[in-house]
Amino acid sequence: MAEFEIIEKYFKALAKGDKAARNLEDDSAQFALKNNCELVVSKDIFVEDTHFLLADGGYKIAQKLLITNLSDLAASGATPLYYMLGFGKSKNIDEKFIAEFCQGLGDLQKKFKIKLIGGDTSAAKQAFFSITVFGYVKKNQNLARFNAKENDLIFVSGNIGDAYRGLQIKLGEKNNYTKSQKEYFLNRHFFPTPRLSLGQNLLAKKLSKCAIDISDGLLADLRHICRNSNLSAKIFLDKIPFCEKNLPLKEQLKLMSGGDDYELLFTVDCKNERKIINLAKKLNLRLSCIGSLTHKQKDDIALFNSQNQQIKLTKFGYEHF
Ligand code: ADP
Ligand code: MG
Repeated sequence: MAEFEIIEKYFKALAKGDKAARNLEDDSAQFALKNNCELVVSKDIFVEDTHFLLADGGYKIAQKLLITNLSDLAASGATPLYYMLGFGKSKNIDEKFIAEFCQGLGDLQKKFKIKLIGGDTSAAKQAFFSITVFGYVKKNQNLARFNAKENDLIFVSGNIGDAYRGLQIKLGEKNNYTKSQKEYFLNRHFFPTPRLSLGQNLLAKKLSKCAIDISDGLLADLRHICRNSNLSAKIFLDKIPFCEKNLPLKEQLKLMSGGDDYELLFTVDCKNERKIINLAKKLNLRLSCIGSLTHKQKDDIALFNSQNQQIKLTKFGYEHF
């Protein structure tokens, strides 16, 4: 399919119904923000064989790409509005793939009330896709990695390591899981949940100033908070929300450095602990306190077991280079 045919037949449908996109017939898109709001922007790139396998199919690849972008907005407490799509089309991408790709985007558009407003399409040796997402927050409000304070409690949403389990199953790992357990883990790998309402609530109710979404692994992303806030963290193994109980230490450490959870890791002043418990009920979402922040020490993160012995950490998470 030629570039203009793909735009006509597939991308225009995703931009329909909102004048910002100018029906994908202009050089750019244009939209205004509500008064007293600021733009929040984020971008992710997905490269074939690094972030996805073409064999995963267009639907799953597109959904995960958009979800990871929405997760970045969630970590900023922002509400998403629009996104732009970069589409690097290799020879192996056929029309069926494109149709499924756009179905994946369309389903998320409905769920999160967002629209496509433009992009660029090119032939490429290897497939790659990129999304830039646009959202907003109220002026001068934000959640940021560098905003943690000493003695803040550290909370995490959902479970840690389910997506990593799913990836291992996808890659053919031997295990004793039932069919429905396997399905659950694979779903967490392919379709993580962007925690947008959580981020928005934390910001609007002023319950937190500091958040990050877990993309590289709990430990690696907690280390970002520590380094950017110039603090250290003290966390407890038996408070980490793993899907399964009584896992061997080695397994637990793998799950904590596996990455791709897209849960929110955020810090909370002790006086707001009760309110976080109420928010968890309201959102029907598991929110676990895993430790607290301390003044800067030699180790960024000190991990303790139930006997209060410190566990030496070597591998922190997925590193990009
Ligand atoms: P230009 O020559 O200025 O790059 P194009 O011919 O590439 O413009 O694009 C024409 C229109 O189609 C533009 O509105 C552009 O935003 C839109 N478009 C092109 N590729 C994509 C894409 N992958 N996703 C969404 N919109 C796209
Ligand atoms: Mg172009």
